[in-house]
Amino acid sequence: MNEQNLARDPAAAVYDHVIPATQPWSGVVRRGQILRIVDLEGQQAVDTLFYNAADFSERYSAQDTLRAQNAAYVSTGTRILSSEGRTMLTVIADSCGAHDTSAGACSCEANTVRFGEHTRYMHACRENFLIEVAKHGMDKRDIVGNINFFMNVPVEPDGRLAIVDGVSKPGDYVELRAEMDVLCVISNCPQVNNPCNGFDPTPVRVLIWES
Ligand SMILES: [Zn+2]
Repeated sequence: MNEQNLARDPAAAVYDHVIPATQPWSGVVRRGQILRIVDLEGQQAVDTLFYNAADFSERYSAQDTLRAQNAAYVSTGTRILSSEGRTMLTVIADSCGAHDTSAGACSCEANTVRFGEHTRYMHACRENFLIEVAKHGMDKRDIVGNINFFMNVPVEPDGRLAIVDGVSKPGDYVELRAEMDVLCVISNCPQVNNPCNGFDPTPVRVLIWES
């Protein structure tokens, strides 16, 4: 069931922010609030982490989230589970259809292995995450497997993951209802070496409503 509410008025949002292309962002979403992430121009991967706002040692668990729902992607109805097995958020609307949570975030190290030495110094999601979690007193050890909203990662017949052209259209969005107070940390992916951002990183928008 899709609880999307297109009438949810941006003017009534308690928070409305455009994350510039390639940049990080973080914010707290209180229990009961609705977080909407909008892929403004389409084909933009939004690498996302969640932490219990009251105890950062409890954080998003991709493994538990996938195992509990017995499906490979995140979409409407997905319960975003924590490392303690508790529901952090519920996906209540998704105009895109499927979001990866297996492929992880791009890093300077992975770029170098995949795309060559000349990419070593390109800014990557891991660097964005490091910058943003540091604002909350966390560091490298606190960065775990993330969700890649709007990233298209099919599982191929031989079991390998592929990163292919994104299917999100301009204006596609995903909505999540917070089931606890959560710190949301986003890297608006700066990758330009594979098609996850259409080779052209673009801004995304985050909105929060009271309900
Ligand atoms: Zn990235």
